[in-house]
Amino acid sequence: MLIQLTYASRAARVLGPMDIKDILGASRRNNAAAGITGALCLNNGIFLQQLEGDRLAVNALYHRLLADPRHRDTAVLDFAEIAHRRFGNWSMGLIGSVEANRQLFLKYSSSADFDPFSMSVLTLRSFFDEILQNIRWLE
Ligand code: FAD
Repeated sequence: MLIQLTYASRAARVLGPMDIKDILGASRRNNAAAGITGALCLNNGIFLQQLEGDRLAVNALYHRLLADPRHRDTAVLDFAEIAHRRFGNWSMGLIGSVEANRQLFLKYSSSADFDPFSMSVLTLRSFFDEILQNIRWLE
């Protein structure tokens, strides 16, 4: 059964380029092998990740993520069965600075901060659709 899981978390410390490279490398390697696709966004110390794939495979990854000391306050924001995938592979991108996306953040929340924790499921889905077009994807 194909599902989509969206969660948010906070970086446990300031993450440097090596941390990002390490997450990117492990994710590319493991997600492709497990048939997991999706996107991971980072802005202002907050991660927002959408994962899609087999229900048990996504669950297994989520449990591994919970044990990763590089982030904390991990919370599932949305979990749903999907008819088809939306991502062709797995990727990671950085959302531009708060200032550059002020209008976008304001459109979906009561403040101009990037705060997926406070969004409803419906708002989060629309927000995710729109931020995907504003992301600087990492190679
Ligand atoms: P690793 O410690 O990376 O590697 C274990 C073993 O794999 C090594 O001993 C070695 O034998 C082999 N190995 C290591 N590097 C290579 C290489 N370059 N080529 C071949 N073999 C190698 N992880 C995911 O898998 N998917 C995600 O979507 C994901 N998203 C994340 C999002 C966030 C916000 C954070 C903080 C972490 C994320 N991670 C993700 C990382 C995750 O938490 C684990 O650190 C990671 O999955 C562990 O991977 P691993 O079991 O391969 O262990």
